[in-house]
Formats: sequence, C-alpha cells, structure tokens
Amino acid sequence: MKINTKCVHGSNKRFDNTGAVSVPIFQSATFIHPGVEQSTGYDYSRLQNPTREYLEDIVANLEEGAEALAFSTGMAAITALMELFSPGDHIIASDDLYGGSVRLFRHISAKNGVRVTLLDTGDIHALEGAIRPETKAVFVETPTNPMMQVTDIAAVAQITRANGLLLVVDNTFLTPYLQRPLTLGADIVIHSGTKYLGGHNDTLAGFLVVNDAELIQRLRFIYTSTGACLSPFDSWLIIRGIKTLALRMRQHEKSANVIAHWLRKQPKVRAVYYCGFEDHPGHAVNNKQADGFGAVISFEVDNAKTARDMLERIKLVHFAESLGGVESLMTYPYMQTHADVPEEQRLSKGITDKLLRLSVGIEDVNDIIADLSSALEE
Ligand SMILES: *Cc1c(COP(=O)(O)O)cnc(C)c1O
Repeated sequence: MKINTKCVHGSNKRFDNTGAVSVPIFQSATFIHPGVEQSTGYDYSRLQNPTREYLEDIVANLEEGAEALAFSTGMAAITALMELFSPGDHIIASDDLYGGSVRLFRHISAKNGVRVTLLDTGDIHALEGAIRPETKAVFVETPTNPMMQVTDIAAVAQITRANGLLLVVDNTFLTPYLQRPLTLGADIVIHSGTKYLGGHNDTLAGFLVVNDAELIQRLRFIYTSTGACLSPFDSWLIIRGIKTLALRMRQHEKSANVIAHWLRKQPKVRAVYYCGFEDHPGHAVNNKQADGFGAVISFEVDNAKTARDMLERIKLVHFAESLGGVESLMTYPYMQTHADVPEEQRLSKGITDKLLRLSVGIEDVNDIIADLSSALEE
C-alpha cells in the first residue's frame, strides 16, 4: 500500500458491525468485564482505548514501525522517552532542537541525573568523539528547528548500532510522508502530532514509534504507568487530520519552495534557511534520505525593527507559535519557541532578534506572498 493510501486506510481494525466508515469515538473511561478474570481486551482507557488504538495503528503503519504510542502532546511523548534513562546516563542531542526539548533536558532530565551534550549531529566526527561509556542515546532532529541543519540518519545509525546506543529521531518537521527514520536505522521516532499529522492547528498530540519488541514493552509500561495518553476525541481528530496528510504535505511543500525563493530576492531579507535550496549544506543528504524538504522556512531580516514590524503587519499569515497546520503561521524563535534556550547558545546558532520562522500553510501561495510583501515593504 502506498503512503497516501495508508493515510486514509492505515488501519484494518473494526470495532462494531454497523459498517461505520469513520471509526467511532469510544468516549468511555472504563469497560465492563464479562466475568471474573475476563476482559474484552479493554479494561480502562489509560491502558487501552479502541479509537486511540486505531490511530496508533495508522501512525505505526505510516512510519513503518511495529507499534506507536499516542500521547497527549509531543512533550509528553519526549518526557516518557526520557524515562528510559537512569541517573548517570548520558545523551547526545542536536544543538538546534525544538526549544521545549532543550528546556526539558536542562531543567527536568538534568535534575533526574541524565546529562545531555548538545552538538551539531550533522558533524559525524564530533558526534563520535562525544560518546562516553555512559552514553545511551543520540537524539536528532533533521532538519532542525529553526536553523534547518540536516543530519545523515543512516550514517548516525551506523555509529549508534556499533556503540549499542539508541537512535531517536524527532520527525515532526518532515512527517512520515516525506521521511521514515525507522527504515534508515533509527530505533525510536518522535512526533508532535499537534503539527502536520493533526494539521489543523486545533489539537495537541504526540507519538513515539518503535520497531523493537523489547523496547515497545518498556515504553508501553512507562506509558500506562505515567498516563499522558491521548483522549478518544483528540485521537479521532488526529485520525481525521491524517486522512489528508499526503495532499496537505504536497501543497505545503510546493508553496514553501516558491516562497523560499521569493524571500531570497527581497532586499530586507539577509538570509533564508531552507534545505530545498541546492546550495544549502544539507541539501544532498536531505535528498538522499527524504522525499522532500518540508515547509518551514527561517529567514533573517536586516534588523530587529523590520522583524517586529513584520510580525505586527502580517494579516493573512498569523503571528502565532506552532507550525504544520493549514494556516500559515509566523513566529519569533528568539522571543518565543527558543526563549528558554540560553542566550549564548541562541546567538551562536543564529537565533537572533532578526530571525523569523514561517510555517507555510495551504492558502494560495500568491496570497501568502502578497501578505509577506506588504508586511516587508510598508
Ligand atoms: C512542537 C514540537 C514539539 C513539542 O510538541 P507539543 O505537541 O507542542 O508538545 C516537539 N518537537 C518538535 C520538532 C516540535 O515542533
């Protein structure tokens, strides 16, 4: 089955005999036991819920994994992942991660005794050099947020395999429609389902997707014990979102490409970060491992005033956090998504008060450009 078909028919599970085309929302906290020591397979919705199971089936299928776990948010998924590690363990992560992941590592994981080294995981030698006896995992985003650094997943997988480490890839930006890290050797895939999978800026969700049976067991135990599961209704909303994932991603991508090239020609724009450019340092690697470049573009303008003016003047494009929905959104990473990343680290990565991040929606590309153009020119 091709991936655009899987988006619509990704699960064969059927839970009733009505012939309902849309999976029912099993809005039940608990389930009746047929007898003592008997179960329908459903006991309590933190442990199992049919609507959520249907969604997990689809996401596992899209990522070519054996199982997926659906969480209430992306951060809940990453928090559960971090429960795999113990005090003294060490992790290597990309140095240009989603700000929330950096905050979690710095303030929660550190308190729990897990040390994280941040470096450019695109630099294989640096990565290899940072491995210590207590290193347990490598955590990668590719392309990164917001600077669009690309990491060669298969090359990192060779290193993690050779050293007995887990390779974790946050695949939120490209989605399984464009990139399937498990097929490239990753062990765990993370999603903020809030973004492209849901796709409508209306629901929060998160996923972990895994192939290894022992790892699935450990994660499912953490999942049911800690309890940040996705509700039945929100599961249903994400199921509905995924049905159009392929169509949306194609449009997002096409428009992003046009807008990235247009931005590059604007006099007040000093740099555009988009790995779809042939001269982007990660272009070839991204081409090798993914079927597209995604639709998030970061760009630097001439000064902080232009950046602030632009955020206040855009009308069609909303000034709001998040990405991956049908509505185009622009954000100010320096002040918003990455505000908690230490200033030094932000500036060294180019996350300055001149940097803006645009998530290209599915509006007509000419309308988006007209809005950006008038916000830049006024
Ligand atoms: C948004 C995001 C997250 C966090 O997901 P939430 O659903 O907001 O908790 C994690 N990783 C990336 C790459 C994101 O964009």
